[in-house]
Amino acid sequence: MSFSFDENTETTIKARSAASGISIGPALVIKAGSQKISPTAITESEIEAHKEKFCSARASLVQELEKMSGGLQDKSTAEIIEAQQQIIEDPEIKRTVFEIVEKKLLSVDFAVYETFSSFIEQLKESGSELFRQRIIDLEDIRDRYVSKVCDHATELKVPEGAILVASKISPTELVNYYEEGAGGLVLEKGGITSHAVIIAKSLGIPCLINADKATKVVSSNEMVILDADKGGLILDPSDEVLKEYAEKLKGAQVSVKADRAAGFETKDGFPFKLMANVEFEAELPRVSEMKSQGIGLLRTESLLFGKKLRKDVEDQEAFYTAMLENSEGPVTIRLFDIGGDKNARRPYKEANPFLGWRGIRLLLDEKKLLRSQLKAILTIAGKYTGRVKLLIPMISVVDEIDQIRDEIEKMQGALLSSGTPIDEDLPIGIMVEVPSVALSAFHFAKKVDFLSIGSNDLTQYTLAVDRGNEKIHTLFQHYHPAVLKLIKMTVKGAEKAGTNVSVCGELAGDEIGAACLMGFGINELSMVPNSLPAIYDLLSSRNKKDFDELAEKAVDLSSSEELEQLFREWKDQTA
Ligand code: PEP
Ligand code: MG
Repeated sequence: MSFSFDENTETTIKARSAASGISIGPALVIKAGSQKISPTAITESEIEAHKEKFCSARASLVQELEKMSGGLQDKSTAEIIEAQQQIIEDPEIKRTVFEIVEKKLLSVDFAVYETFSSFIEQLKESGSELFRQRIIDLEDIRDRYVSKVCDHATELKVPEGAILVASKISPTELVNYYEEGAGGLVLEKGGITSHAVIIAKSLGIPCLINADKATKVVSSNEMVILDADKGGLILDPSDEVLKEYAEKLKGAQVSVKADRAAGFETKDGFPFKLMANVEFEAELPRVSEMKSQGIGLLRTESLLFGKKLRKDVEDQEAFYTAMLENSEGPVTIRLFDIGGDKNARRPYKEANPFLGWRGIRLLLDEKKLLRSQLKAILTIAGKYTGRVKLLIPMISVVDEIDQIRDEIEKMQGALLSSGTPIDEDLPIGIMVEVPSVALSAFHFAKKVDFLSIGSNDLTQYTLAVDRGNEKIHTLFQHYHPAVLKLIKMTVKGAEKAGTNVSVCGELAGDEIGAACLMGFGINELSMVPNSLPAIYDLLSSRNKKDFDELAEKAVDLSSSEELEQLFREWKDQTA
């Protein structure tokens, strides 16, 4: 029997493939804290345990806020943290929660949910703008409280090979589940370049997105088959179907190989470099397995989120050292790109986070956080001279480069005065993620040593498509001719300034994207490790002029669909 997943049935859920592969295992449904919590009855003998859970959740939330405030300096954020702390410690909240637990004999997760929700309702009815701001705080705290007191959040057991089914998930949560044995991911929301999906790809976890109502239809522990190659989830499969998929799985495992016999050059000898994007230590084995020539993008946000906060200079140094020791070639470390969809624990809420306080904008305001990261990176760069490169995220105006360069120079001076060696020639580069940088590339490029194109954000900001919004996912087209035109302009501006250009967005790991990028003359591509073999095969089996011809035609097309058609023909002709 062969599945087609044309539409949802009782035993199949149609979804969109975001990371290919097949996975078979027990489902693990993760309910988000923000979901409505139903009342669960408890016995009198359980009252104390539920009250204790509340107290320890409260202590842990307060502790998290204290840690968070340690790295933040600006006044408005400090005020928000203080306001949140007051809400968490409010005696009225505690009194109401305990009353529901003791008198109504209902579970603490429901008691917390109910208490906060009724306060939120009262504020909503008031109609005041000031109170509306408080609602966001209250909802945020409610969800964090609930996930702390919920059994499924604190005692969730991950069966080996579990297929996670969630509405959405943070990258850190995903890595935690992966380290405990999860082997597949099914999301109701998200886009192909949303952050958690990139990590799933990198870890080699098959992933489906836009799996409508999956958390409602699937139950934890039921056996499921995730077929990300065909784009669907099979619930309660028969023995016959299980056997068929187990065989497919065996075949797929032997077909992934990282053969580099042809050398890193096109058929006619034009060199290229293929590197890996990395965020977690758990990804490193794949980086060497796939024979990457370096780490082209080391995302560092995981140091700030998740179970293990590693904000201190020493902790950061240990993380960067692990990355350098366990990889070969250059390691491009990007400064914290907090904001957008990478703001898991930030108390500061914005109406448009992707257009807001993100990346360099936040770092230049949060000097303590910035300086601790610079100190760690510059120290490590001095130890591994010639291997580290420094990358700045979310640059949109030239002045930001001047400001960050000033900070870097000051930190290098301070390190030298304290006798710590530095890398005097440390290359400093910026991400090209905002159209303003592509359009005025020359002016940005002449101030730095390299440009690294972040096609995920460049696509998002060029096509005005939130990269994580499932409602408009079909509009997220990273090889849209308009995006390619901006990339071509970037190369032209950088050439004039004598600055190197590379690409580290998902476009680099896409066959159509990689082929066009080579045609534009970009021969340094960084991608999720699993994409390396296919891109290597494509680039090493064609001549440079084949890529040039494709790229030249691509920018003049009117749509991504036209480019897909052109690429199919090109691939056949040049094979
Ligand atoms: C990008 O925007 O393409 C990129 C590589 O950065 P991130 O995905 O971390 O935003
Ligand atoms: Mg980006």
